[in-house]
Amino acid sequence: MDKPVIALKVDVDTFVGTRDGVPNLLAILERFGIRATFYFSMGPDNSGKAIRRIFRPGFLKKMFRTKAPSMFGLRTLLSGTILPPPIIAAKLPHILKETERAGHVVGIHCWDHVKWHDYLPWFPKPVTAMELGKASALYQEVLGHRALTTAAPGWTVSADSLEVQDAMHLSYCSDCRGTHPFYPVMDGRTFRTLQIPTTWPTMDELLGENGITPETINDHYLTLLKPGLNVHTIHTEFEGMAMAPVFTDLLARLTDRGVRFVTLAEVAEEAASSAPGAPLAMAEIAGRAMPVAVQGNQPYETNNVN
Ligand SMILES: [Zn+2]
Repeated sequence: MDKPVIALKVDVDTFVGTRDGVPNLLAILERFGIRATFYFSMGPDNSGKAIRRIFRPGFLKKMFRTKAPSMFGLRTLLSGTILPPPIIAAKLPHILKETERAGHVVGIHCWDHVKWHDYLPWFPKPVTAMELGKASALYQEVLGHRALTTAAPGWTVSADSLEVQDAMHLSYCSDCRGTHPFYPVMDGRTFRTLQIPTTWPTMDELLGENGITPETINDHYLTLLKPGLNVHTIHTEFEGMAMAPVFTDLLARLTDRGVRFVTLAEVAEEAASSAPGAPLAMAEIAGRAMPVAVQGNQPYETNNVN
């Protein structure tokens, strides 16, 4: 049987998550000699409007009733509401550079996380193209080369967004939930950019469900470890900040088990020529308020809590 392999996909959603969470994560990953794949929100941080939507309604209230301001900081909670939103990658270019210098893969999460997550289905195609176009242009300006990968905010895609990604000649994308790398078929159209789905539920989906707490969540994650590829999406705002000790413990336990860590670029290289086609559609899954893109034709387990 294949040994378990894990690709860590890091979503960077906010200004504070970029400024504080990323350096924390870089230090943690360096300690374990792990290379990961980071997806940066490049444009305005409108997360004051977004925090409540990035994560499941009730989640923050339930878990962090009194801690939300200290977890995210007032700056984040107000950003894009009464404070003008900072352009994240323009304000913090050194963070993207540092991430790349440390050997990690740097990709694009989005231009405006809130806008994409809330309105993608209603975007005219040029708006979809412009969101990714603006993100790509700033990425190139900061890192001096073009982006080869993107990962959609909130796992929200449309046939238009897949078409734009094809046009960008990306090597692979990680926009959905599912089981194995594949070429997406959506609305009857087949796309040529490889999709590498997230296979594990995220921390915010699990916490508070079925009695799972920060103390027991890693036990649960270890039960999800499957032979072959596992893709785990983490958020700098959680695993890089308040949940950093829990995440560090997870890495220690995975490393003890001899689990090997790979980047999504390495996964893509191996899967590109052999990956099958599979349907991709927006669907409801446990633990998320809004539908997410889910790979079809395979049994898809969500929270895996029995
Ligand atoms: Zn995100």
